[in-house]
Amino acid sequence: MIKIEKVRKSFGAHLVLKDVSFEVAKGETVCIIGPSGSGKSTVLRCINRLEVIDSGRITLNDELIAYRENEGRLVELREREVLNRIKDLGMVFQGFNLFPHMTVLQNLIEAPVGVKGEKRSLATERGRDYLRMVGLEDKAEAYPVMLSGGQKQRVAIARALNMEPQAILFDEPTSALDPENVNEVLQVMKKLAKGGLTMIVVTHEMGFAREAADRVIFMDDGRIVEVGTPNEILSWPQNARTQAFVKSVL
Ligand code: ADP
Ligand code: MG
Repeated sequence: MIKIEKVRKSFGAHLVLKDVSFEVAKGETVCIIGPSGSGKSTVLRCINRLEVIDSGRITLNDELIAYRENEGRLVELREREVLNRIKDLGMVFQGFNLFPHMTVLQNLIEAPVGVKGEKRSLATERGRDYLRMVGLEDKAEAYPVMLSGGQKQRVAIARALNMEPQAILFDEPTSALDPENVNEVLQVMKKLAKGGLTMIVVTHEMGFAREAADRVIFMDDGRIVEVGTPNEILSWPQNARTQAFVKSVL
């Protein structure tokens, strides 16, 4: 479903992604692990077009969503189409990014109504279903400031789901949480993975990767060093750098 081919990305003289290639099939959960600064967030940001790539290409269902700038100019007319396609990719960040002046339910219906032009009643009804799914149906009228970090992140997940995306990209969704809030968020994510949602998850939670991932990608210094099943990467890593990293986090 999502195909990343030889993606390069630099910030100034600093080459941050060095020919990164991988694919994610429909329904698959792929976890990306690796040391801080290895390029994990940049990969997600390139897929979601928060960054423009230097070269390579990224497709969603065989349709181009990111390409080098020159190629971009050639297909400029299709820009609107591309923006339309990336609406199909939800994103959940470390820092929740909820709208503070809106209630939980308003947070969920803002984008479906404002961006997709959906009927408010429909977006509201489905939003309530997703709140129930993440265990927060009683918080619909609360404001984000009244919620714990774990509750905020579950709202952020419900908000992403209410756009009915084809896939959701998670960037360290539990890293900003107090330890007692981590599990409730991972439980929701495990449920989504089991339910067949396509997910790319950057995480330091090796327990989650082991339980929920179909495949684990280890990145270091802008490259994919090793890819395999959770057992292959976390229990029997072949590469010395993977071995060192896994040892340091387990
Ligand atoms: P990770 O998520 O694995 O910790 P990142 O993708 O955030 O790594 O960053 C990879 C490298 O790119 C780091 O060296 C970081 O400092 C650099 N970087 C990321 N974003 C920017 C930016 N907007 N401008 C300059 N350098 C950046
Ligand atoms: Mg990061």
